[in-house]
Amino acid sequence: MIKKSAQQPTLYLTFDDGPHPEFTGELLELLNAHKAKATFFSMGIRLERCPSLGLRIVQEGHALANHSYNHPRFDHISITERNQQIEKTNNAIKQLTNTDCRLFRSPQGRWDSSLLRYLIRRGITAVHWSRDSLDYKKEPTEQLIKRFNDQPVTAGDIILFHDDNNLCIDALAVLIPQWQAQGFELKALES
Ligand SMILES: [Zn+2]
Repeated sequence: MIKKSAQQPTLYLTFDDGPHPEFTGELLELLNAHKAKATFFSMGIRLERCPSLGLRIVQEGHALANHSYNHPRFDHISITERNQQIEKTNNAIKQLTNTDCRLFRSPQGRWDSSLLRYLIRRGITAVHWSRDSLDYKKEPTEQLIKRFNDQPVTAGDIILFHDDNNLCIDALAVLIPQWQAQGFELKALES
C-alpha cells in the first residue's frame, strides 16, 4: 500500500489596493517572519510609484496580481476603459517581473458577464474572496480578530485584507500564528 501524506489545509491571504510605501514593506516583514505566502492584488498606478515593493513581493515568493490601474468603479466606466485598466496594470507587472499576470480582482469585487468573458478570452482568472476581514471599516484590531475567532476560517478560504493601512499588520500578527498552530499553511494563489 502506498502511503500518502495528508495534504495540509491551506489558507490564501490576499491584500488589495497596495503597494503602499509604508505598510506593504512592514507586512512583507511579518509574512517573512512566519514563512507565510500571500497574494497582492496591486493597483498599476501604485506599482509604478513603488516598483521596488512590487519586485520585493515577487522575490519573496508571493504572487503579484492585478487589481486595475487606479481603482475606478467598474460599473461606472465603459467596457473599453475596463479592459484598458486591466491591460495597463498587466503591462506594469510584466515590465517589473517579466511574467504575464494571470490573476485579476476587480475593484470592490464588481463582476459582470462581459468582464468575465474578457478575462476568459485573455486567460486571466477572476479571483473573488470567501472571507472578508472587513478591515475597510477601520474597527479596533481586537474586533477584527474576534470576528475570525467567532467564525473560524476553513481550508481553502481566500481571505480579503487591504495593505494600504496598518490594520492588516496588527491583526495578522495575532492571527497568522494562531492559524498556523491550527495546522493551516498560508500560500500564494497560483494562476
Ligand atoms: Zn480595492
